[in-house]
Amino acid sequence: MNIREDFLPLSRPSIGEEEVRAVVACLKSGWITTGPVCREFEDRFRELTGASHAISLSSGTAGMHLMMLALGLKEGDEVITPSLTFASTINMITLCGARPVFVDIHYDSLNINADLIEEAITERTRAVIPVHFAGAPADMDKIMDVAGRHDLAVIEDAAHALGTAYRGIHAGGFGQSAVFSFHPLKNITTGEGGMITLSDDQVERRVRLLRFHGIERDAWKRYGKGGTPEYDISEPGFKYNLTDIQAAMGLVQLARLEKLNERRRKLAALYTEGLIDLEGIDIPGIPPYPHVHSWHLFVVKVTGMAREAFMKKLADYNIGYGIHFPACHRLGYIEKSYGIMEDNLRETVRVGDRIVSLPLFPDMKDSDVLYVCEAVKEIVSNG
Ligand SMILES: *Cc1c(COP(=O)(O)O)cnc(C)c1O
Repeated sequence: MNIREDFLPLSRPSIGEEEVRAVVACLKSGWITTGPVCREFEDRFRELTGASHAISLSSGTAGMHLMMLALGLKEGDEVITPSLTFASTINMITLCGARPVFVDIHYDSLNINADLIEEAITERTRAVIPVHFAGAPADMDKIMDVAGRHDLAVIEDAAHALGTAYRGIHAGGFGQSAVFSFHPLKNITTGEGGMITLSDDQVERRVRLLRFHGIERDAWKRYGKGGTPEYDISEPGFKYNLTDIQAAMGLVQLARLEKLNERRRKLAALYTEGLIDLEGIDIPGIPPYPHVHSWHLFVVKVTGMAREAFMKKLADYNIGYGIHFPACHRLGYIEKSYGIMEDNLRETVRVGDRIVSLPLFPDMKDSDVLYVCEAVKEIVSNG
């Protein structure tokens, strides 16, 4: 086959004239940091997820950090999560002084195996953080059930789950809490940004305070006509707020979410069709329960050759790729603190050096997917 001349990236944000107009309108409005546009973005998010509260933030990582603090996570606590997740979650658990406890995943969907959570629970366990991996929901009925019986908090890592639903409920709508991300790779973007959805009124109050220095009222209310510029701080907080400039972009992106995801679904179906019978490549498995998949990523497992050689060949064909994610139990500081923890992580280890994310983004053409499929076929048959 002919090698394409231009590079096909792993991902590219889909940003149109409408986003540009919304950002420019905000820039000209006289208020550009956290204010009414962030509020509107939060309102739309409550509608999307069905959660009682939504709080916009500077990143998903900031959201994880604040949720953990608001839940009172501290030295000596344990948090259950898969090893196959983004390192930021493990970093935040560690920075709170707590310890990550890794539970194995399903080979097919790469989601946490909810049947294994109970045996990982100890007296120190405080929370479970499942990931809706690549946009396929984790088994939330089982997770909420085991968490409920042991009085554990649940924080869904919904960074991949914009548009993901489980048995008719959108990610973030299960009555506890969830964290979304608007990093440029995610299904919608604000450049950088994040959102917490949650149900508890007191936790919401605490998160809002911790988000902005611990100061009681929003700045745009303090500086408005007749505002009250005094403030008090009862607990020191962070600087984790989203700006109205970013929220303006997010509102347009959110209105386009269904269309963007429809396009992702179509491309994923093309990938599946093109690669399903190919020996040496395992395509993503689909969870058995009713769900809506947001197809954030298309992660294959390379079984027919070494992954490193496979990725090198993809580069020769001018195709981008990613690894989501390097397993967190192998991160240097984790191994140094806890030793090698692979006994209960059979499937994680099995996929660890096999997973590769192929290009997937809404502005990709059908012919781009067909090109990648052809290239992958050539690579594994010569590999
Ligand atoms: C992107 C991502 C995050 C972190 O989100 P940021 O907005 O980049 O901080 C957390 N978890 C997962 C699974 C992610 O993919």
